[in-house]
Amino acid sequence: MARRTASELRRMREAGRIVAEMHECIRAAVRPGVTTAQLDAVGREVIARRGASSNFLGYHGFPAVICASPNDVIVHGIPGEILLQEGDIISIDCGAVVDGWHGDAAFTMGVGEISPEAARLIEVTEASLHAGIAAMVDGNRIGDIGAAVQRVVEAAGFSVVREYVGHGIGRAMHEQPEVPNHGRPGTGGRLHTGMTLAVEPMVNVGSPETFLTEDGWTVVTADQGLSAHFEHTIAIGEHGPEILTLP
Ligand code: MG
Ligand code: MG
Repeated sequence: MARRTASELRRMREAGRIVAEMHECIRAAVRPGVTTAQLDAVGREVIARRGASSNFLGYHGFPAVICASPNDVIVHGIPGEILLQEGDIISIDCGAVVDGWHGDAAFTMGVGEISPEAARLIEVTEASLHAGIAAMVDGNRIGDIGAAVQRVVEAAGFSVVREYVGHGIGRAMHEQPEVPNHGRPGTGGRLHTGMTLAVEPMVNVGSPETFLTEDGWTVVTADQGLSAHFEHTIAIGEHGPEILTLP
């Protein structure tokens, strides 16, 4: 991957700020009785207000600006008339484009009061993302990121999804290289200053096996256990990783 220039990074930061604002507004709208289509409308409103565009809407025909993935849905849930209920968990993944530069980030949260296990899943998944980000240092390798994620997840007794991975990001939402959430330290391509990657652990309470449902998008856990997802877009800076998808 080419080293991003300062002006390219500025536009990626701007896209990232808009994604973070979508997250904030959607978080504030999550409650029992809201539909995932209503959460999509909140995301659309932020994108329109900021004059950005969505990299999710129309992606291989995807019909919304967010993916909304409740409970046993791992990723790529399509927003619709599904009512969120007290005790659910919901993963929201969304992105924005500014001047052709992309941001992409995801979070999982509880709807009202959730079980201790669901709360621990969310906590561990977010912690695994930050462990992966901490490994994003010039001279390290792609495998160092996945190894750091995997260590946190498996120490907690949860499992890492293998079939879906993080990715390079910049002029397109999905660029090379792939960034798996598992791996061996010191293996894979070398990380260098000026790279921009999206790291996105998907973590299951039970088995890591996935199942693609018949709508062709919605990926669920094969054992119907809970799954969580956190993602940031990150630049590797001279002084370490910089999260671009922050307010
Ligand atoms: Mg994403
Ligand atoms: Mg992504």
